[in-house]
Amino acid sequence: MFTLWFIAFLFADLATRAWVASRQMRHVLRHRDQVPAEFADRIGLRSHQRAADYTLAKVRLGMVETLVEAALLVVLTLLGGLQWLDLQWGRAIDSEMWRQLALIGSVVAIVGLVGLPFSVWRKFGLEARFGFNRVTPRLFVADLAKGLLLTLLLGAPLVALVLWVMGNAGQHWIWWAWAVWVGFNFLVIWLFPTVIAPLFNKFTPLQNTDVAERVNALAQRCGFRLNGLFVMDGSRRSAHGNAYFTGFGRNRRIVFFDTLLARLDPTEIEAVLAHELGHFKHRHIIKRMAVSFAAALGFFALLGWLAQQVWFYTGLGVIPQLGRPNDALALILFFLVVPVFTFWVTPLASWFSRRDEFQADRYAASQSSADALVSALVKLYDDNAATLTPDPVHSAFYDSHPPAALRIQKLRHGA
Ligand SMILES: [Zn+2]
Repeated sequence: MFTLWFIAFLFADLATRAWVASRQMRHVLRHRDQVPAEFADRIGLRSHQRAADYTLAKVRLGMVETLVEAALLVVLTLLGGLQWLDLQWGRAIDSEMWRQLALIGSVVAIVGLVGLPFSVWRKFGLEARFGFNRVTPRLFVADLAKGLLLTLLLGAPLVALVLWVMGNAGQHWIWWAWAVWVGFNFLVIWLFPTVIAPLFNKFTPLQNTDVAERVNALAQRCGFRLNGLFVMDGSRRSAHGNAYFTGFGRNRRIVFFDTLLARLDPTEIEAVLAHELGHFKHRHIIKRMAVSFAAALGFFALLGWLAQQVWFYTGLGVIPQLGRPNDALALILFFLVVPVFTFWVTPLASWFSRRDEFQADRYAASQSSADALVSALVKLYDDNAATLTPDPVHSAFYDSHPPAALRIQKLRHGA
């Protein structure tokens, strides 16, 4: 019975994704030959068409990747992949902990290997074709090795601890596992700006320029205590530009991509930063963390229940072994299968995210300049080849940021 539900949801997901993707492609194609009137004075037809082609290429690649991922999911579950792996490791390893870690590690490795060709194609095919990629094959391999090392150093102890808690903390293990998860998240957020991010990029303090002066004045006006302004060599990997906040407490800093600094003038940079400060002022980041921790508790409770149900295993092509822990199996099945059901929450999460973006825009307009933010946005959309004419349904479903036209309209008319 559960098998049927799983298959039904998987097909509904795929059908919905395909339908929304095809809407997006048709909509973008239909508007490919005309720059929307409100952008016509600032964006040329050629860049508009380049953005359309880039969007189409991304949607196509995304669809192929979705299909391959779904196929892998079916191979691992219903077609017996996991069951086979579990039997092999059961024969090879006696220690329960190492056996379970090996099982999880091998599934993570398989999922990673299947995803690898897509990330290669994305960087060296798609992004390169549109002139965004700056990653050399050598850097790609170095990044991959570092990512792998980080996964081992941070991920393996986390998984081992959760498995240990599941096996040894009694019936209240859910709370302990949750505490481990929350602690781990704080650790990563704490380590990210000073330890993890510098493994991949160089960060240099922003020197006493016009930009630094403006940003410091803005932060003071907004009552935000700055612990550092940094420039990141984002141009090492990509021509896309960005700015972000990172860390908390004394580790808090603002990071500008060098690509962003190169393209925007000081008033525009100030406006972009005011938008970021808006997220901070409205506590979006803290609220999002609270929601994600509450959701994690719910998921652990669900996992605790599902792990006890025989149908959860057998319905997904695995026969749990009696007389030994099946925690690793339960964890893997849970993380593989739950997204199939939670896919339907995507539009809701996107809606909340877009609401936050409007709030941050309003804050930026009040603390800085709406016009400067508009001109920064237009430049960023243009540079990043982001489409100005997304399909409304696609946008409602997936977009974390509102469509450019809508954002600009609200900024201009203060709605
Ligand atoms: Zn934002």
